[in-house]
Amino acid sequence: MAEKIVGVIGGSGLYQMEGLEEVQTISLKTPFGNPSDSFLLGRLEGVMVVFLPRHGKGHRIQPSSLNFRANIYGMKKLGVQWIIGVSAVGSMKKSIHPGDMVIPNQFIDQTKGRPNTFFSDGIVGHISFADPVCPILSKILFEAGKEAGATVHPEGTYICIEGPQFSTRAESRLYRSWGVDIIGMTNLPEAKLAREAEICYSTIAFATDYDCWREEAGDVSIGEVLRILARSTKIAKSAIQHAIKQLPEKRECLCANALKYAMITAKKFIPEKTKKDLKPIIGKYL
Ligand SMILES: [Zn+2]
Repeated sequence: MAEKIVGVIGGSGLYQMEGLEEVQTISLKTPFGNPSDSFLLGRLEGVMVVFLPRHGKGHRIQPSSLNFRANIYGMKKLGVQWIIGVSAVGSMKKSIHPGDMVIPNQFIDQTKGRPNTFFSDGIVGHISFADPVCPILSKILFEAGKEAGATVHPEGTYICIEGPQFSTRAESRLYRSWGVDIIGMTNLPEAKLAREAEICYSTIAFATDYDCWREEAGDVSIGEVLRILARSTKIAKSAIQHAIKQLPEKRECLCANALKYAMITAKKFIPEKTKKDLKPIIGKYL
């Protein structure tokens, strides 16, 4: 059995993982282009961890320009079976206070034409995505968040907007009428691609503010957001340390075999180049 390897994709605030030992820096080129940055490989609490800052070192890449395919492909190539995403989000519900942690279990897609599938060049695949995050990882993150001292909401609907601008008040009110809990710009493409790559994915989302719908809350000061972000980043790191130890060595969830019935294209029609490019992902089915 392959060793347990856990990927961490750090969002706003989380640009490095302290405590990583025996660190190796790995730069990868993928058939889909370059990932956001080099991957940092190392041991955290004895567990193999692969860390990637989602927006690159120094936060250089905006959400619409992120190469999600290269990021997830790189993780797959490095043998990652679990990915913990970490993100800052806006709260769309009064009951989710700035500083609270949410483990989203549903998504609504409001992105515009981002490349968010590995199945494009002569190969068609339709994965099940009714339950878009890994239930095992989500449960472990929920417990780990509590352990780290956060107020944690075990589920919630995350609306993923294109950005980079935040929403207008009219949009924010509309999304609230759809029943969403939090708003962000990055997690959904990651969840889709991770499922296609048969990697378990779930995310730790920290509310930093009330988006713009809650007018009585007044305009958010950037100082306050940064203060919450700094505290949340600390808690996220602690939650990750708790979570990675709890993850099982053997995956029993459906994520691990998500492609079993997903690929439609007859093998003989899949172009050789596509077979080669997607080998880390579809190799076991060819
Ligand atoms: Zn899973």
